[in-house]
Amino acid sequence: MNRATFAKYLERDRVCWHCGSDGDDLIPHHRANRGHGGAGKQSILNQPSNIILMCSQANFLMEHDAEFAARARLFGWKISRYADPTLEVCYDLWRGVYCYLGNDFARVEVHNYGKGLNENRKSF
Ligand SMILES: [Zn+2]
Repeated sequence: MNRATFAKYLERDRVCWHCGSDGDDLIPHHRANRGHGGAGKQSILNQPSNIILMCSQANFLMEHDAEFAARARLFGWKISRYADPTLEVCYDLWRGVYCYLGNDFARVEVHNYGKGLNENRKSF
């Protein structure tokens, strides 16, 4: 990722989605894994909806700590590589708000995500 593109992510996210770090340890994290072969520049996996900025510690824990990885899946930080990341809500833990991410660097906050879920799904 070049500097100009990274700057766009910095402008959108400003801080780590996990801890709020705004240091120079921020890394573009792919929500759906690119896999070993990588992915082309035009692939959905390399679009803004699939990439969030996270600190190096969060990146490390996602790969090495099962409990943290489970939480990352719950928060939409890790999603299936067959999912459409624009449709997968992503939780900004630092700010306490759910967001949808667009491929135009849009970040749409959802303030009532999950509201009414229990009433609608009686089995829960
Ligand atoms: Zn962090």
